[in-house]
Amino acid sequence: MKNKNKYNRILLKISGEFLKDNYTGSINIDFIKDLVDQIYLLTQFGIKVGLVVGGGNLFRGSDLEKLGMRRTISDHVGMLSTVINGLLIYEFMQKYKIKSRIFSSTRLDGMCERYRLDKVNDALENGYIAIFCFGLGVPFFTTDSAACIYGIEIKADILLKGTKVDGVYSSDPLVNSSAKLYHTLKYKEALNKKLKFMDYTSLILAYENKLPILVFDMHNPKVLHDIVINANSVGTLIY
Ligand code: UDP
Repeated sequence: MKNKNKYNRILLKISGEFLKDNYTGSINIDFIKDLVDQIYLLTQFGIKVGLVVGGGNLFRGSDLEKLGMRRTISDHVGMLSTVINGLLIYEFMQKYKIKSRIFSSTRLDGMCERYRLDKVNDALENGYIAIFCFGLGVPFFTTDSAACIYGIEIKADILLKGTKVDGVYSSDPLVNSSAKLYHTLKYKEALNKKLKFMDYTSLILAYENKLPILVFDMHNPKVLHDIVINANSVGTLIY
């Protein structure tokens, strides 16, 4: 299907926090179902979708380090958390017969395919959603960095970063009621203002490779359609 979508190839990054059900402590099935529905709808418009899921609902390396663990091991645990989350989403996609493949930056035989750009591009071209897990496979990085690298590698038109707030603010809106929401930001502005929506490594990767980033509120159940198909102006665009 030839289309006039705003974006035709996207890399969606979701924090692991979204997968946590704060009441039961288990997984948030409603969120996963909604996410899977939203992504599936995009593929029906011919959009190629790559997905990176964080591991923050389970473990983050920096938190474990504070408990006295070595950073490298902590980050391995963090990266394995992203595999658990990726597999959960992959399983839901399989259950609903949505074409998807899950790739890992390290060997996880029997669970994930090993990441290789050509394989991923083939999958995308054939209408499969590509889920990336185990981050970049190296410690001291985050899944935001992984999302930037994979976004750049698959030549995504944009990195969509779904968050719990409606965009990037001048300061924390929960602390400062006069905090200003930016609708657009240049990479350098975002770096100079030391805004904390993404780590510097990731932002610099995006900047140097001209990958635009849209930060938006993922709670809206139609938000991906609004952004990608309806071209609604949502969140903060960093370009
Ligand atoms: N991580 C890593 N290298 C990577 C990606 C992730 O070491 O390339 C580890 C790191 O410890 C991180 C954890 O995996 O804290 C989970 O990822 P992240 O914190 O980005 O998850 P999110 O906050 O998005 O849920």
